[in-house]
This record gives sequence, structure tokens and C-alpha cells, in this order.
Amino acid sequence: MIGIFDVFKIGIGPSSSHTMGPMRAGCCFVKSLEKQNILNQVTKINVYLLGSLAHTGKGHSTDQAVLCGLAGEMPDTVNPDNIPKQVAANKKTHKLNLLGKHSIDFNFDKNIIWQFQRTLKEHPNGLEILAYDKNNIVVYNETYISIGGGFISTLKDFNAKSAKPKTIAFYDYNNANDLLVLGEKHNLSISQIAIQNEIHRYKDVELVNDKIDHIWQVMHSCIQRGINATGNLPTSGLARRANKLHKAIHCNSSTHNDIFEIMDWVSLFAVAVNEENAAGGKIVTAPTNGAAGVVPAVLGYYDKFLASKSKQQGIRNFIATAAAIGVIIIKNASISGAEAGCQAEVGSACAMAAAGLTATQGGSNQQIENAAEIALEHNLGMTCDPVGGLVQIPCIERNAMAAVKAVNASRMALKSDGTHAVPLDSCIKTMYETGIDLQEKYRETSLGGLAINLKVPSKK
Ligand code: SF4
Repeated sequence: MIGIFDVFKIGIGPSSSHTMGPMRAGCCFVKSLEKQNILNQVTKINVYLLGSLAHTGKGHSTDQAVLCGLAGEMPDTVNPDNIPKQVAANKKTHKLNLLGKHSIDFNFDKNIIWQFQRTLKEHPNGLEILAYDKNNIVVYNETYISIGGGFISTLKDFNAKSAKPKTIAFYDYNNANDLLVLGEKHNLSISQIAIQNEIHRYKDVELVNDKIDHIWQVMHSCIQRGINATGNLPTSGLARRANKLHKAIHCNSSTHNDIFEIMDWVSLFAVAVNEENAAGGKIVTAPTNGAAGVVPAVLGYYDKFLASKSKQQGIRNFIATAAAIGVIIIKNASISGAEAGCQAEVGSACAMAAAGLTATQGGSNQQIENAAEIALEHNLGMTCDPVGGLVQIPCIERNAMAAVKAVNASRMALKSDGTHAVPLDSCIKTMYETGIDLQEKYRETSLGGLAINLKVPSKK
């Protein structure tokens, strides 16, 4: 089953599909070598980055992520500060300690091979890893697909259609209509359905609550780090804005009575998170890293401006409801910019945040579904064109815009009775079909859109 802790995963920036997925693939590969008892035979490893992973891999630190994965690091436990250190050490010694257990020669600039002209027919985010013995014979190879949101699959599993996990949840749902029917039948809110599934999975109510609370703690500290940080973002040298925005809001508050100031806070929270993501910091995928600012920004808005005595429960309801919407998008469409454009990343995050906020305000399941639908519908067609292959322009501002849109979608839904013309399931289907129709240059390749009309930040 996929649930709350699959949609919200703690990891590192700047990208879930181009950083976290490849790191996980590298680590899975060396673990497979160990499992087969062939780790010690390996003398050489080649990694081939294909399609979108090649086109925007430099900007997303895909090569660094794979190197750390081969060394045994995983996105949820790696210390982000150690990544550049590991890369620098390898560049100096040309040695790599596979899984921290077996050292081989490895040249970061030669053994990671960028295949710009090769794309798997199954998915734009492919990587192949080959391990050789001392006679230069391949002892093991695997092709991985980074599906989006940090999920990976082997090509074999992907072709066997097992990439999209089968639901064995207690309350089994595959789409928004299922959620509404289940809610009606068992008299449950969407957040209760999502939380009950996790309790059934972990058999421990407190553990589930602690894990949800931890998601918000990581989001919240990410907002704080982003606000406190000054200076420039890596590679592009783009100036960070969150700190200045924060000061400007304070300055404005003391001199004006600005009715739109709350909107400034929502934007600030999103910018802070996405700048941390761009800087490779600790992040919660929500549902991806590129779109990681939307949910924390709207949850931050709830926390700062709307929450009352039952704030902790409200935060849990928000996260669980948002996750349930993420689950049905993953099951029926995509959350990958490389597969379906930015509508699949930021659009999905916007829908999740709108649903979560609506839940905290006592919205019915119908109103929650309505809010998610409004939010997603008005992101349809949005392309992915990251400038310089970096998750900075347009990504950082885009999260702020989507966060504000999510608040608006929630308010519109809350002021209706939940009846509406477009079902969320139809909108999700439309998003996916539109994404598939998008030309490749608008799907995280940096070959079109702003990426070719703005030259400021460049690939390394
Ligand atoms: S444009 Fe959107 S989908 Fe593309 S990298 Fe940026 S946030 Fe992700």
C-alpha cells in the first residue's frame, strides 16, 4: 500500500526524482551486490544517466546522489553536509567505498556517464548501473526508473506493472470516488481513513501520530532554516529571498494595515522551503521536492493564523488528508515533472494543500474533494522548464503562487455545499492525459520554455 509516509518522505534536495531516487537506486544496487555475495568481486562500476536524468542531472546533483548511494547512503538518513565532502574526497582519491565496505577505483567524471541521446521508452528518468569484476566482465547490472517523489522501480518491475503499488490497505481506495464512498459507508473523514490505514499497517497509534508529527517538525524547521539563511543559492548564484521577504513583512506590518499580509506569509513559507530544497537541505517530499514548499506553506498558514486549541490534531488531519489526495494522484496519474510536467508536481501539491486546509476547517469529504479539484484544475497544462536544469526558476516562486492558490481553492470549496461540476477523478485523468501530450521539451529536460529563454543560471 502507499500511504501517508510514502507521500511525505524525509529526504534531501533539490529533487525527489533526480536526487533522492538516484541515491536510492545506487544504494539498492550495492545492497543487491552484497545480497548476492558478489560485492567483494566488484572492481569497477559504471552508471549511465538517461533522458531527463542526463538533461537536468547536473542541476539536480544526480551524479553526486548516485555516488553517495553507491557508498551506502539513503536520502532519509544522509547528512546533506556530507554529500559535497564525499564528492570532493572521490575527486581527490578516485576511490569509492561501496556500501561503506568494499573500496574500488571510481572516477566521478568518467564512471558516471551522461547519455543525453538515450531515453528509455518506458519512462524519461532511467539509469543503468553495471558492476564489473577484475576481468572486466559484467557480474551484475540493473536498470532503474526514478518514478517521481523519490519512488524507484527496476525496469523489470515497471514493465510488470508493479511500479504503482497495489493497495492492501485496511480501507482500500483507488480514487476520489472510493474515498467518498468509504467515508459515507463508515462515517469517516478522509483523514480518518488515511490514519486508520497507517494504524493498521504499524499496529501502533502512538507511533503513527509521532511519525505524522515528525513530518510537520521537519517542514517547520525547514521553513525556519530558509527564513534565517542569507546569501546565494548554489550553482546559479541566485540571491536567496526568504530572509529579505521576512524582514519586509515585519517592516510593512509596523507601518501599514495591509489586508493581504497573510498572503505574504504564505508566499514566504513556500519560498523559504524551496530555497532550502534548492540548496540541497533536509526536506519533506510533498509529494516531490520541486513542489515541497506548497504543503508546508499552507500548513504554516494554518499553524500561524487559523489553529486553535486542537492545533496538533488539526495538523495531523491536514497531513493525512493531503496524503490521501497524493495517493490517488500517484495511483491514477503521475507526480513526476519529467512524466507529466509541472502540473503533476506543483499542481498535485496545490490539490493536496487545498484538501488539507479544508479538512482543518471542518470541511466535509465532498468539500475536501471539491477543494482539491479546484486547485488541480487551475494548474492544468503547466509545463516543467527549470532554468539551467536547477530547481530554482520557476520552481521557487511557483510554489508560492500555488500555495496562495490552494488557500483560495479551499475557501471557495468551504463556501459551497460540496456539489460541483468536475469530479476530482476526471481532473486527475485530464492532468495525466495532458501531461503525456506535452512535448518532451516541456517535461523536465530544460530544452524548452523559460529554460531556453532565460540564460542566467547555467548547468555546472
Ligand atoms: S518546473 Fe515544476 S516540475 Fe519542473 S522542476 Fe520546477 S517545480 Fe519541478
